[in-house]
Amino acid sequence: MFIKNKDIKPFEKKVWLASPTMHGDELKWMTDAFEKNWMTTAGDNVNELEKIAAESAQMKYAVALCNCTAALHLCVKLAGEKLYGKPMIGHGALEGKRVFCSDMTFDATLNPVVYEGGIPVFIDTEASSWNMDSVALEKAFELYPDVKLVVCAELYGFPGRIDIIKSICEKHGALLIEDAAEAMGATLNGKQCGSFGDYSAVSYNGNKIITGSSGGCLLTNDIEVANKARKWSTQAREAAAWYQHEEVGYNYRISNVVAGVVRGQYPYLSEHIAQKKAIYERYKEGFKGLPLTMNPIVDGTVPNYWLSACIIDKDAMCKQVRDDKTALYIPEHGKSCPTEILEAISSINAEGRPIWKPMHMQPMYRMHEFITQTGSGRAKTNAYIKGGVEDIGADIFDRGLCLPSDNKMTPEIQDKVIEIIRGCFE
Ligand SMILES: *Cc1c(COP(=O)(O)O)cnc(C)c1O
Repeated sequence: MFIKNKDIKPFEKKVWLASPTMHGDELKWMTDAFEKNWMTTAGDNVNELEKIAAESAQMKYAVALCNCTAALHLCVKLAGEKLYGKPMIGHGALEGKRVFCSDMTFDATLNPVVYEGGIPVFIDTEASSWNMDSVALEKAFELYPDVKLVVCAELYGFPGRIDIIKSICEKHGALLIEDAAEAMGATLNGKQCGSFGDYSAVSYNGNKIITGSSGGCLLTNDIEVANKARKWSTQAREAAAWYQHEEVGYNYRISNVVAGVVRGQYPYLSEHIAQKKAIYERYKEGFKGLPLTMNPIVDGTVPNYWLSACIIDKDAMCKQVRDDKTALYIPEHGKSCPTEILEAISSINAEGRPIWKPMHMQPMYRMHEFITQTGSGRAKTNAYIKGGVEDIGADIFDRGLCLPSDNKMTPEIQDKVIEIIRGCFE
């Protein structure tokens, strides 16, 4: 056993993967809510936020909600009712229906599908974009032509070909929910992420490109959809003199204080993107000569560069195994693995993270179908994939990792992060 990088000193202040970056306007709008005494889930900040969010995403309407998961839940309900009609009380909007879902993403992308009784079928990731594989999606429609809903997330702010995904959906008469939680401000062919879905959602969670500490928006071009989402999010109260209810409701509206924070952040979206881009490019430059590649940028897309990530060449991987909770590796000269690099990063008080563990590898979804370019199967364990199926998501999870990508990381600090990573391959 040998110790790599033993003489780099840890940072005094932790370097985060992605932390909030405040500017001052946020406090002004929070104070505005306080002074006007609109300390509730309505007020000027909420109204203004909805205007700004819609405009920024090139959509007609935004409905501001307590978080993006709630927005996705309402997207799923809207799609479910449009496709299958109003469910009986006690049933989900997608009861027993298969839904094609991104596989390599945060589980919030598809949790709402499960809330509504749907059955996620996972679509593999393409190596060229790290987003949903359109060839695998076509394959899925061949296997299940009656599926009517696709939920697709953009990974780390680097869009894939969501336009192709959308046209495949149209061809098969399916609706598309776009989870643009990580991709606010990113574009494909000049079109904003969040504007491709029939229903889309963005997030203002604390680690996203801009934040309200929490919060999210549902985006749509259809006024009736926006009105319905707004109604459902406020306990589905009917227009009557008393509390009249014809359908189930939720308490999903955003706080006017939180909306003030987001309102104050929007003017800085492009600045944050520029900072994140500089971080990505410094890593790219700093990794020259190493057996590492940064996460891909697809032609025609402009990422928001939310998280810089990288993947280790196959022949530069030392041995690494992961079970459900732990990871082990065998250090080797000239080689490394995500576990070793993440340990090295954390040893200098910085934060990295494994790639989102694909959903088909998660214990709760092991018996769910998983469809790749080359076939379909059920991935029962990390190691077992039905014969002939090439599992791109598992491979990216195995060899990839997210790097410290905080806006406030200085070039000097980043150089040290790069140095410690270079040391892993010595
Ligand atoms: C952060 C995130 C969400 C959830 O957003 P919240 O606002 O925290 O509910 C959903 N999907 C993806 C891909 C995310 O990264």
